Amino acid sequence: MSKDRLYNQLEQLFSNTQASPAADLQQQAASPVPAAPQKSAEEKPKAAPRKDVDAAQDTRPARRAAATWDDFLDGIRRRRSFGYVYDATEVQPLENLSKRPRRNALSFPLRSAGETFGRLVLEDEDVNWTEAQRRVVNAVADRLSQQVDNLRLLNEAERYRLEAEQALAQMSHKGWQDFLVDEQEEDLIYVYDQSLVKPGSEEDASKKSDLAIPLAVRDNVLGQVQFEGIQDLDTDSQNLLAAVTEQLTTHLDNLRLSQQRETSLAEVEGLYAVSAELSAAATLQDALMAVAKPAIETGARRCSLFRVVNMADGQPEEIELVAHWERDPSAQATPLGMRFKISEMHSTQAWINSPDKPLMVPNIVNFGPPNGAGMQSKMDFKGFLLMPLTSQDGVIGTININFEDEHPFTPSEERLYTTLAQQASVVVNNLLLFEQATRRAADMETVAEISTAISRLLDPDLLLKTVVEEMRAGFGVYHSQIYVFDKDMDALTLSASSGEAGEKLLAKGHAIPMASQHSLVVRVARDRQEVIVGNTAKEPDFLPNELLPDTRSEIALPMIVGNRLLGVLDVQDSRLNRFTQLERQILMTLTSQVAVALQNARLYLEQAETVERLRELDHLKSDFLANMSHELRTPLNSIMGFTDVILLGLDGPVTDQMENDLHLVEKNGKHLLSLINNVLDMSKIEAGRMTLSLEEFDLQSLIEEATDIVGPLAREKSLYLELKMQDDQPVQLEADHVRMRQVLINVLGNAVKFTEKGGVDILVKQPKENLVRIEVKDTGLGIPSNKLDMIFESFSQVDTSSTRKVGGTGLGLPISRSLVEMHGGRLWAESTGVEGEGATFIIEVPMKAEKAV
Ligand code: ADP
Repeated sequence: MSKDRLYNQLEQLFSNTQASPAADLQQQAASPVPAAPQKSAEEKPKAAPRKDVDAAQDTRPARRAAATWDDFLDGIRRRRSFGYVYDATEVQPLENLSKRPRRNALSFPLRSAGETFGRLVLEDEDVNWTEAQRRVVNAVADRLSQQVDNLRLLNEAERYRLEAEQALAQMSHKGWQDFLVDEQEEDLIYVYDQSLVKPGSEEDASKKSDLAIPLAVRDNVLGQVQFEGIQDLDTDSQNLLAAVTEQLTTHLDNLRLSQQRETSLAEVEGLYAVSAELSAAATLQDALMAVAKPAIETGARRCSLFRVVNMADGQPEEIELVAHWERDPSAQATPLGMRFKISEMHSTQAWINSPDKPLMVPNIVNFGPPNGAGMQSKMDFKGFLLMPLTSQDGVIGTININFEDEHPFTPSEERLYTTLAQQASVVVNNLLLFEQATRRAADMETVAEISTAISRLLDPDLLLKTVVEEMRAGFGVYHSQIYVFDKDMDALTLSASSGEAGEKLLAKGHAIPMASQHSLVVRVARDRQEVIVGNTAKEPDFLPNELLPDTRSEIALPMIVGNRLLGVLDVQDSRLNRFTQLERQILMTLTSQVAVALQNARLYLEQAETVERLRELDHLKSDFLANMSHELRTPLNSIMGFTDVILLGLDGPVTDQMENDLHLVEKNGKHLLSLINNVLDMSKIEAGRMTLSLEEFDLQSLIEEATDIVGPLAREKSLYLELKMQDDQPVQLEADHVRMRQVLINVLGNAVKFTEKGGVDILVKQPKENLVRIEVKDTGLGIPSNKLDMIFESFSQVDTSSTRKVGGTGLGLPISRSLVEMHGGRLWAESTGVEGEGATFIIEVPMKAEKAV
């Protein structure tokens, strides 16, 4: 737009602002337009409009509403910011108030009562404003300020006028009328017969009087004073009577004012008492009782507090009774928790149409649509009061009060119930929120309890059963069940189901094939996505179950671990829309925990089964070995016996060649026998069939017995064998002599077997009172430290090549360790692993072995 056009527009604007403010206001009132001040009021101060004209400068003032002006003026008073932009075609609310004006914009302050309240800003691409233009814009800003000032003053004057009018009305005839209506008395007549004042009758009023002087408060006649029996009064007397009457009027007016003050004081006090009780309410019942108190005192029959439970398209659809009071204790009270469709509640529906103020119906018979008469005649009440409860999110509930008789609501009651409805809204809303929070906490507690309970359960069936039962009890739902996915059958099998209905369903072996087209749970399993159904009647995929007739809403959630589907958790309730987003989240948490617990329980079961199978196999093996060794030993003994017989020449002469071969037979036979004996011992130990027979003996002689056996081999290898008793004291041992001997022979035999140079030291110590320690130390090969444990496992050897040279089965040490342990002792090896430094085998046994097992 060119600068000149803008200039012209401004001039036009300037002349517009000279229109009479009063005419302006009237025009505005006639055609309201939506205005933005309230909205922009929230934005930051420091208006900096671009190409802007401030609010007062709208070129079409006639199209602005009086309300807009009030807002505007109010905004200025409250120092809120808003602005308008005029782009030469129309005036619009300015969106971005915080935007700074361009450089070189023309900007003039708008002032009122010496204070800057805004700015007029002009912007254009072309920045060269002439001095003349500046002057004009400045003048416009000044006029604009003045205009706003005028309007503000006018507005204020109007307000004062209204206030004054109200005050006047209070003190005059209108006040009297209200007063009389409040008192519910119409004509008051008093007669004074020079001795006493008494109430008069209609008749007294209609009597002819000699003189009547009106009782008037500021031109409003309230009544009159009639005088009888006075004729031909002189002027002075007449004046006197007039003066007395005026005094009387003033006095009456004072009386009325003071009574009115008392009434309002009582009203305020009553309200205060109810408010105090209301704000102390800890339950919804308390809140209802506090609000209903004045109604109960004035003949209420019953009071009910409902909360909105279901919304449809932002409108309450259903309400639930949450607190109730009935005057007649024998009356059958509606149970708490009962729900009603608002569409079926004629009076409540009326309230939906105007939720801002209480609905007061003196007599229900005169209320509602003409065809509703039938329903109303069934009602056991006449007066009806409905107090809407609202929060910033809309309607949250209602308090309904029924009065037995017709109940005309006085202005004082109207005021009371309007205020109470507002206060009750706040209290009830808080209580409902609190209840919601408490329920959430309780739900979380249920989840925690169920999780803890199931984490201890290792039986999958019991686990699922616990989940469904605990869920039903903990969440207070109608039914809960779990389907498990059966891969082989490609179906969902009902595996746990709550209550009696659940037992019947389980007995029927309920299963749904995954191919089912219409099944909620199958859909959940297929999509692996939970589903909430607010109203099962409206869900085509819902399969009604005759054993669960009360199901109205349902939620089903997939149980998934990793990416494996284990099943579906399904919860049903008899209330519509029972499952909200809140429940969804809580149940999702629970479902995943149940899934993990189920997986763990299954794995545990599998593992336990495997272990049991392995144990059985082990038993079979030990039994087999024990039997086999036994069966092998008998023929072997016979082979060796007959070899002996031949060698002794009992069967005739033996050639050198034969003798040589027979010795070989004997040697291998012995080796085989020891092998068989070892296998037999090992299998006995593993089968738990090895027993000890304890006896007391001298340890030194036992060791010597063993050295006697390994001695020949040591001598053959030129190794020394030396026994040293630390205290040179005999040591008495109570143990299994044969088995201890076996252990010593094995350990000493190994020491000699795996040593080529040096020898073997045997040291006997007594580190503790009831403990003997036998150390067998050689100077042989040694054992690498990482093999020190391994050599005690069955059939393991450090180096098969070295043992092949010296012979062995790898069973000696495991058997020895088991035997020592059976005595309550320990056997272990120590070695640096360096050849020549050898190894030390240490046996520790109690002097008195624990009773043989
Ligand atoms: P084996 O009949 O093979 O001797 P053992 O159970 O008695 O069976 O011993 C297992 C293995 O432990 C032996 O093969 C050997 O490798 C190692 N071992 C046992 N005692 C000694 C030792 N004193 N010095 C070195 N190695 C030893």
